[in-house]
Amino acid sequence: MILYPKAYLQSVKEITISFLKENKIKALILDVDNTILDFDKKIPEGIQEWCENLKKEGIQFCILSNSNQKQKVKMVAETLHISYFYFATKPLKRGFKKAIQFLQEDRKNIAAVGDQIFTDVIGANRMHLFSILVKPIGHKDLLLTRIKRPLENFIIKKYQEKEKENVYK
Ligand SMILES: [Mg+2]
Repeated sequence: MILYPKAYLQSVKEITISFLKENKIKALILDVDNTILDFDKKIPEGIQEWCENLKKEGIQFCILSNSNQKQKVKMVAETLHISYFYFATKPLKRGFKKAIQFLQEDRKNIAAVGDQIFTDVIGANRMHLFSILVKPIGHKDLLLTRIKRPLENFIIKKYQEKEKENVYK
């Protein structure tokens, strides 16, 4: 199902090295807004440390953001010491292609992480990457994102029901 993530987590911080090894993931493509940056343009506590720890384990990173605010995306990338692509037009393929080329890693070993189904998850699934949906950091969203949230929540509910069924089968 193109709308469903491979994994649904509370935060990027739940992406542990054991989780990555289990799923054979060697590289992460990160969304910015509401994934590793809150609405007030702050990187929540622990995210920098999380990123550094995974890097020490050999995990590669890059940022793929739909935002057209270069300075903002650059600030996050520089704080985390990773490369970035902004104005990515997810779920279209072209940004993902750039990120994959940069990472030089097989698609099946790359996960794309984000807080939105209609950009991050669909985009990752179309590219046959491992899609990870995380809960949005803040409760504040841009208007367009806010409009999409109820539908996303409905899809997440359906996804969780399906996951539950799988567990008990
Ligand atoms: Mg986002």
